[in-house]
Amino acid sequence: MKISILTLFPEMFAPLEQSIIGRAREKKLVEINVVNIRDYSLDKHKKCDDYAFGGGAGMLMTAQPVCDAIEAVDPTRKALRIYTSPKGKKLTQAEVRRLAGFEEILLLCGHYEGIDQRAIDLEIDEEISIGDYILTGGELPAMVIVDSVCRYVDGVLGSEQSAQEETFCDDLLEYPQYTRPAEFRGLKVPEVLLNGNHKEINLWRRQRQVGLTRERRPDLAKDNSAIEEHDRYMAQQQEKERKRLLRKQKKERKIKDEE
Ligand code: SAM
Repeated sequence: MKISILTLFPEMFAPLEQSIIGRAREKKLVEINVVNIRDYSLDKHKKCDDYAFGGGAGMLMTAQPVCDAIEAVDPTRKALRIYTSPKGKKLTQAEVRRLAGFEEILLLCGHYEGIDQRAIDLEIDEEISIGDYILTGGELPAMVIVDSVCRYVDGVLGSEQSAQEETFCDDLLEYPQYTRPAEFRGLKVPEVLLNGNHKEINLWRRQRQVGLTRERRPDLAKDNSAIEEHDRYMAQQQEKERKRLLRKQKKERKIKDEE
């Protein structure tokens, strides 16, 4: 996957040289190019901002360097061009998975009060917001997008499973996890996790996922097919248990009668 990030502050992207994403870049699993929009300014002082027509506080990024930078980086319009913006569609895990399906992504970072609308109208395919709050620039949102998307690129995570079993997969929050020691400051790891019975472990985990999601994120729990499936399974299990007890009672009564 190739990702180009267009920004007025390329120095802010040092975190993408670290840890899992840094290693993925070293291994050439992902190519991340950070491009300085200022290099494309035709102004003699490399100015890239100006006052907004109609007044209002703050400066706007001008259209010329933004358009020229985008066209230089993506001359054949091969990349999905995204502008990080609080006005955009909100980033979710489903959106992250969708973005991971593109071979090339271009991320345009706004700054100040934003960007001249004409650059967005001319060059951008989608606007994406990372949440309902305002940041000083699009650099952190771009890093959030890069980090979350790269985790889906084959080979970036140690085990394919880790991206599949996490919070938001199946629209459920993740179950609690524990590591050694089995007891810490008087708190014991739930017994079921120590018994090696994977059927029981999976059921316990699913129950905790469903419980946590209902308690903390009713929005995710609503019309959730994984929760409906779990409820159906639990109802079936209860019915099976009820029938088993009935059979047992019947048998015991028969033995008593015979005696
Ligand atoms: N005046 C803009 C508004 O009210 O919508 C906010 C501009 S903000 C101070 C500067 C830049 O930060 C934006 O152009 C955008 O690129 C980025 N930004 C801020 N908050 C964001 C968010 N929640 N998601 C994505 N990008 C954001």
